Amino acid sequence: MLNADAELCDHAVDLCQRLLRIDTTNPPGNEREAAALLAAELAAAGLEPVVLESAPCRANVVARHRGTGAKPPILLTAHLDVVEADPSAWRYPPFSGVVAEGCLWGRGAIDMKNHAAMSVALLTRLAREGVRLDRDIIFAGVADEEAGCEFGSGWLCDHHPELVRAEYAIGEGGGFNLELGGKRFFTVQVAEKGFCWVRARVRGEPGHGSMPRTDSAVYKLASGVARLAKGLPPHRTRVVTDFLSGIASAQPAALQPLLRALTSPGLLPRLLKALPDPSVGRALGAMLANTASPTVVRAGQKTNVIPGVAEVEIDGRTLPGQTDDDFLRELGAVLGPEFELEVLRSAPPVETEPVRSPLYDRILEVLAEREPDAIPVPYMIPGFTDAKSFTRLGARWYGFAPVKLPPGMRFADMFHGHDERIPIDGLRWGTEVLTDVVTRFAAR
Ligand SMILES: [Zn+2]
Repeated sequence: MLNADAELCDHAVDLCQRLLRIDTTNPPGNEREAAALLAAELAAAGLEPVVLESAPCRANVVARHRGTGAKPPILLTAHLDVVEADPSAWRYPPFSGVVAEGCLWGRGAIDMKNHAAMSVALLTRLAREGVRLDRDIIFAGVADEEAGCEFGSGWLCDHHPELVRAEYAIGEGGGFNLELGGKRFFTVQVAEKGFCWVRARVRGEPGHGSMPRTDSAVYKLASGVARLAKGLPPHRTRVVTDFLSGIASAQPAALQPLLRALTSPGLLPRLLKALPDPSVGRALGAMLANTASPTVVRAGQKTNVIPGVAEVEIDGRTLPGQTDDDFLRELGAVLGPEFELEVLRSAPPVETEPVRSPLYDRILEVLAEREPDAIPVPYMIPGFTDAKSFTRLGARWYGFAPVKLPPGMRFADMFHGHDERIPIDGLRWGTEVLTDVVTRFAAR
């Protein structure tokens, strides 16, 4: 067994800082330097990392700490790319890795160079100490998550599945704390929505712009798009019900009926509108229904010509238990029969079933020891992660990149936001938690 000591935590902090100083903004990604840095660390500890390029400068790094083989492997994975950052909106430059105000600052600090750093620090330590566990521990640092995983986990799972196939995987999506009603909760991501990107096209009578007509494609499109604002019908899912009842159980008795009502589809739209913080309403709304965001709108070429066709691209997201067909039916019911729907790209939702497993139990055990007052809750994210790829190979996915944030610092504000940073204490805490969870789980 191995306990995370100061040296292991120092290593994770140092690695995170060095990763933050490498600009891996995607596009173009350019993850090669970050992959090389981690490969060098892993090799120095006696491991045999491989760097795999899916395209020029798009690199993935994979390493394995061998166990006895008594049980199948566990995968620790993190994407190395980040979303763009506008330096003028930041207090410190986004690729400086500066230490200030008790935090390490930089794009990727919580999404998710922290997890890459913690995982590599752990693997190198296991290797240096020659710790023998029952399971291989695999690390995969991947490219291109932020732009859809094509050159990263998607490519890796298609071309080198034997390197990354595992029974369990720990990646992003949860592991952070939320404060609600004075109570602290830790999220463990066990589900993520699917996506179904659609082009909706409608036709109408073309004509000359000098003689307006209300049956034009543009008017039809505009009214169809406006109807989408009402949203799609809510659906109950197990993970969201468990999440909400976990949160509700810790709130004052006076709030209980209100929180229970959140899981009642009839009351939902009114309740969400009544919430004082609209971002909370949007986040909850996305957990309770399939969603359809109109994003790209196209019609016409010339100011004086009424076009005969108009189209909109719709970013659709599907709940666990819902298929593309279910989504298309709901979308069609809102847009109406005149709209032709074409699926551009889709992937099904991910759900770890059942939630409880030996790994989940280790997560609960470690959280209970370290944060006895906090309540772990299963969690679903509305977006998608590398879970889409690794679960195709059969992994049971837990989004658990542990980090402890001080009161008032919200994960959601920093995730893809300005001033992304990680409290150094929170990163050290995460390193200890990840070490405990992984080594205890793999040792038994
Ligand atoms: Zn991420």
